[in-house]
Amino acid sequence: MQVKLKNKKKAQPKAKSKLIMGRRRFLKTTGLAFGAAVAASSLPGNLVRKAHAGEASPYPDAQKIKTICNYCSVGCGIIAEVQDGVWVRQEMDLAHPISRGGLCSKGASSREVSMSERRLKTPLKLVDGKWQKITWDTALDEIADNLKKIKKDSGPDSVFWMGTAKFNNEQAYMFRKMAALWGTNNVDHQARV
Ligand code: SF4
Repeated sequence: MQVKLKNKKKAQPKAKSKLIMGRRRFLKTTGLAFGAAVAASSLPGNLVRKAHAGEASPYPDAQKIKTICNYCSVGCGIIAEVQDGVWVRQEMDLAHPISRGGLCSKGASSREVSMSERRLKTPLKLVDGKWQKITWDTALDEIADNLKKIKKDSGPDSVFWMGTAKFNNEQAYMFRKMAALWGTNNVDHQARV
């Protein structure tokens, strides 16, 4: 017992130095990220542009709906501009009590997740290193067959069911039920950190 305590005491400075290194590395990394952001701001075309406070919306008649970002449990405020039933633009919510106008990159791109022209509309399968479009029926059949094989070979706990912030309350409930039906408690939300 005494030997263990002695070892523990000796180990402390090492752990502290690791922590300091970790912080240094973190600062170095964030410094690089900041440098990359500065470099990106000089990119040509419409890749990056300077944001200006109080920009006039190109949709003056759009309905402004207060909502929240659904990526994580912080729940930052977003003002969605909806015109003819389509979410056309978003603004930060300066009056939101939590975020006070701030949004991280995920929240700032909330609209693009569903409205982007680059959004996938069919399942893709990697075949010989290339993505091929397949039908939903094919995708669901292949996923079901593979899952059954995994369960048979390795048991239900070999799979972790990872939920998404894009689920609404009822979908999250069903997802949890699905994992239970599968036979495991290995289920959580993607924002669990
Ligand atoms: S904007 Fe970022 S921090 Fe705020 S709720 Fe969304 S993901 Fe979370």
